[in-house]
Amino acid sequence: MNNHVTVLEIDGSALAHNLDYFKQKLQPETKILAVVKAFGYGSDGVQVAKFLEDKVAYFSVAYAHEGIALREAGIQTPILVLHPQLQNLQAIVDYRLEPALYNFNIFSAFLELASNAPLINYPVHLKFNTGLNRLGFWHTDIPEILANIKDINNIKVQSLFSHLAASEDLNENNFNINQISNFTGIVQHFYKNLGYEPILHILNTSGVINYPKAQFDMVRIGIGLYGFGNDDKETAQLKNTHNLKSIISQIHEIKPGDTVGYNRAFIAKKATKTATIPVGHADGLSRKLGNKKGFVLINNQKAEIVGNVCMDMIMVNVTKINCKEGDEVILFNSQKMIQNISDISETIVYETLTAISPRVKKILKE
Ligand SMILES: *Cc1c(COP(=O)(O)O)cnc(C)c1O
Repeated sequence: MNNHVTVLEIDGSALAHNLDYFKQKLQPETKILAVVKAFGYGSDGVQVAKFLEDKVAYFSVAYAHEGIALREAGIQTPILVLHPQLQNLQAIVDYRLEPALYNFNIFSAFLELASNAPLINYPVHLKFNTGLNRLGFWHTDIPEILANIKDINNIKVQSLFSHLAASEDLNENNFNINQISNFTGIVQHFYKNLGYEPILHILNTSGVINYPKAQFDMVRIGIGLYGFGNDDKETAQLKNTHNLKSIISQIHEIKPGDTVGYNRAFIAKKATKTATIPVGHADGLSRKLGNKKGFVLINNQKAEIVGNVCMDMIMVNVTKINCKEGDEVILFNSQKMIQNISDISETIVYETLTAISPRVKKILKE
């Protein structure tokens, strides 16, 4: 059992608000797939999925074992595994997960497994590369795909999908539109030859914001659920879901000339009071936040991080703050703080959120 005092509180009502925000941008019949990969963007994929189970049509994860964790927790909703590997196709079937098939290697292996079992109408998702050049079949692969599935009933093409390379960047508008139009062309081939119409989807969060006309049958929402749109205006409409908190373990009163932390990186110029907090780079706080770059909130006041971020701890300057050992410390509780941490860490909020390590206790508050 995780009884760490450093806790990530996941705000359930904020998750629900964010989901509703995207719902009202979509046609009533458009399905929502909630992306809960990477532990629900650094939170807790199982708790998030349980909370959203009745509200979304699909979940998706990157890897098979993430989907297995959801099934083992009792989640019954369909789960798309975005990046299956040969080694886990059997587990995917055992746990009723739905694989994205993205090349002939994985496609043929799955067809063989499906025919040996045999499986009947097992839902699979065909992923097409329309410009991201990461995962996916080429449009030129379509005839061979169709030839392989023409006379068999072991699998059913549950969906056709692709992924935009720069959906958040309107400078890349032409590229995005071109991807969407390539996808539409791919879909036409399947509609003509398949005899049924799979679910179609290409948009992630920023795609929904910038290209709502391309919502097709379903959209895949990740970062938006967790409170971030592509710009401050969109983000302001969303609510923060990730609140990282801890407590003060110890307070030190140090004299001028005393130093704090590894490499004696902080040198006190005057009498200084510091607080030690049980959260460090092993919990997901970048070392770039050390040496007064980052701060925490204690009793509503900013306390700068002094010295280097340690693996398990940080020290902050509380000289001017009325506080005591055991008091609550806020590492972040707003999108603004998360954005600020990301800026200082020279990264994007996706990385700041997903960096929160399994050591941190996760609690979803409804
Ligand atoms: C992670 C991922 C998403 C979610 O993207 P967001 O920008 O977080 O909404 C959607 N689709 C695919 C294929 C992904 O890998």
